[in-house]
Amino acid sequence: MQIERGVMDITSLGPGKRFCVWVNGCKRGCPGCISLRLQAEAPQNECDVEEFLRDFPLSRADGATVSGGEPFDQPSELNKLTRLLCERGIDDILVYTGYTLEQLRARGDADTDAALSRIAVLIDGPYVRELDDGTDNLKGSANQRVLFLKQGYEKKYAAYRRSERAMQELTMEQTLLAAGIPPTGFAEKFSDGKKNG
Ligand code: SF4
Repeated sequence: MQIERGVMDITSLGPGKRFCVWVNGCKRGCPGCISLRLQAEAPQNECDVEEFLRDFPLSRADGATVSGGEPFDQPSELNKLTRLLCERGIDDILVYTGYTLEQLRARGDADTDAALSRIAVLIDGPYVRELDDGTDNLKGSANQRVLFLKQGYEKKYAAYRRSERAMQELTMEQTLLAAGIPPTGFAEKFSDGKKNG
């Protein structure tokens, strides 16, 4: 799987301290996308998902978030990633996609369907800058949907959805990054690690 990075203890992409994975590559090209750098494929980041996960103490994660880039542009690898996360005890898997759930179902693809069966919460649809109203901390724009594909997570996510957007600053490999849904004007300050769709 082409993976830009994985980071533990992210608090700005879902409730709790989460293990977050950013994948490389997105073919959708939404106008206004602020994850431009992650749209490009990155063959140099190709890795075995099982080996990649070995580096992280997942037992202490409150959940996992997969963002990008477009996770569903690598369906077989996303299937494997979600399966391994479940096997490592993470049931709360949140995934951002620029596709709608209906588009994903219409693929008729076994890997896509298997990944969807393990995802607890799906944020679907492209980021639309003109619809960026900041009313839900999980979403970049109002057209996106928060879809609970597994039961029992609405309560866990409720307070987080009502909270104000706040980017989490990270320093990795001497580079300042920011994770989360950016408040208005934040995009100009940072150049990486942001997610809108
Ligand atoms: S907003 Fe998301 S789905 Fe759209 S181009 Fe950017 S990374 Fe891809």
